Amino acid sequence: MDARRCIGSGMCVLTADEVFDQDADGRAVVLRPEPPAATRDAVRAAVELCPAAAIGLSTDR
Ligand code: SF4
Repeated sequence: MDARRCIGSGMCVLTADEVFDQDADGRAVVLRPEPPAATRDAVRAAVELCPAAAIGLSTDR
């Protein structure tokens, strides 16, 4: 997650609230850098829905 790109839309939190939250300034924070498999679809959707392209998902692990 690139906080410099984040515009605080909150889409990631709405889509995957187990993995993302927003700080006091509205910027996204990652709660779980290595999200469990059960959240993978939600995280993938959050990546696709982020209007600022601020989130990436590594599938190498
Ligand atoms: S969806 Fe993207 S722009 Fe919106 S809060 Fe999350 S990281 Fe930031």
